Amino acid sequence: MACNTGPVCRMCRREGVKLFLKGTRCDTDKCAIERRQTPPGMHNYRRGKLTDYGVHLREKQKVKRYYGVLEAQFRRYFQTAERTKGNTGKMLMALLERRLDNIVHRLGWGLSRSQARQIVRHGHILVNGRRVDVPSYLVRTGDVITVKNRPKSIEIVQAAIAEYGREVPDFLNRVDGPQPEGQVLRLPEAEDVSIPVEVNLIVEILSR
Ligand code: SF4
Repeated sequence: MACNTGPVCRMCRREGVKLFLKGTRCDTDKCAIERRQTPPGMHNYRRGKLTDYGVHLREKQKVKRYYGVLEAQFRRYFQTAERTKGNTGKMLMALLERRLDNIVHRLGWGLSRSQARQIVRHGHILVNGRRVDVPSYLVRTGDVITVKNRPKSIEIVQAAIAEYGREVPDFLNRVDGPQPEGQVLRLPEAEDVSIPVEVNLIVEILSR
């Protein structure tokens, strides 16, 4: 499965916001964007004024990078959101937020989305008792997410829980214990996304 494997702090610096791609490091003073506010590149230039197209593009790239999805997949989410009744932008964000790798991260079982993606890919996660190793799997209301009852799986997740310093969002319920468990209490909404996103800009650029 394709994913972006390049240096991640550059992405934050390019977008000019913290995208929290490196786990606990993002909350420390080692965060690259805290040290250097400039975009990546060999010339330490100031961020120039963006064109209208640039503003729209940066918003789309920001969300893609935050969720770790590539262009083609992002456009498929957009097409699904367009076909769904309701506000397209909000539907798009809700779809992205429902991804299993995101849910595992928001439960604190993976310190970053990329770690959560790896946890899912390596088969450590069960959804309603069945192994699901597809990071893009979309959860539904009532789904019960558990860690596989295997010492290695539980050890990985317990270690992440011990380090994870952020709150579990209120659309999820996490039960810690010998075998950690989480439940989807309701479908996430655009407001549950933990970074500010101007979804209308994304809809406008993808509708062109
Ligand atoms: Fe982004 Fe985290 Fe790197 Fe800071 S430490 S620049 S938030 S990935």
